[in-house]
Amino acid sequence: MLVNMKELLLTADKNGFAVPAFNISNYAMFNGIMEISEKLNAPVILEIHPNELKHIGTDFIAGMRSRAAHSPVPVVIHLDHGQSFANVMTAIRAGFTSVMIDASSKPFEENIAICQKVVEAAHGAVNYIKIEDPEDPRVQGDPDRVKWHYAPACYDADVSVEGELGTIGSINEAAGQVDDRIVYTEPEDAVKFVEATGIDTLAIAIGTSHGLYPKGYVPHLQIDRLKAIHKALRDAGYDTCLVLHGGSGNPDDEIAEAARNGIAKINISSDIKVAYYNKMREVLKDLGKREPHAIENECIVAMQEVAAHKIRLFGADGKAGLYR
Ligand SMILES: [Zn+2]
Repeated sequence: MLVNMKELLLTADKNGFAVPAFNISNYAMFNGIMEISEKLNAPVILEIHPNELKHIGTDFIAGMRSRAAHSPVPVVIHLDHGQSFANVMTAIRAGFTSVMIDASSKPFEENIAICQKVVEAAHGAVNYIKIEDPEDPRVQGDPDRVKWHYAPACYDADVSVEGELGTIGSINEAAGQVDDRIVYTEPEDAVKFVEATGIDTLAIAIGTSHGLYPKGYVPHLQIDRLKAIHKALRDAGYDTCLVLHGGSGNPDDEIAEAARNGIAKINISSDIKVAYYNKMREVLKDLGKREPHAIENECIVAMQEVAAHKIRLFGADGKAGLYR
């Protein structure tokens, strides 16, 4: 079943778990993530970065939507780190159910202005309508999942928007260095930002970095800051859900704690790709292999092992039932 991000994350937020958002950029990875999510009965977010979208092409999204619509678990197709209004519009037209606009490197007021424009477009853009009437001809033949059936529509369903406030650290993997001059998100700024923009979900900076940390570097998450941001938003009457980027390579106990304390979505990119391509390097040592299925199947299994660990760590396993 296809859902938008807001519906997906509100349930996670209320039940104290986080939904993993896996970056994929080919069909084998996409299908592998779908299969492991279905096996663990877990809701899932498939993320695609603009660079990844360039690689796979926008027509790929129709296939993802079809696969997701037939799945028993709730699925969001999300644009990761949209850099411009054009990026976002391309994604909406292609059929994403959620988009991120990342203007976090811009000054606060400019970030707000860009997010406002994207929210207006995305919330006005129609993607799917949720059909709850079992007599509706569009959902006949699907009696068990009627409540969650989504069909293309021309009204009443929007695309959710993720903004980002604060800066996430960056890692120069070649040099083995972490630029951890993180601008942490302040609770009062988060409230002002949500109020001004109307965004559905907010990526916050509490101590993670994008990429893989060098050996020996131990990142530290500010869980108290996370709790304060979550509380400030709820006290101000906003149900905006919080997102953690740079979730690869952090200590498991801190990530699990973040999921229990207000983070509803955790982005995982590097960890699954490393598993996939490390296995591929190993498999390709056999020079006799040339068929994609013979090469990729083992890579998918290696990736699924990492994905399954994350799904359980975030507490998302078995939670698809909450959405029916
Ligand atoms: Zn990110």
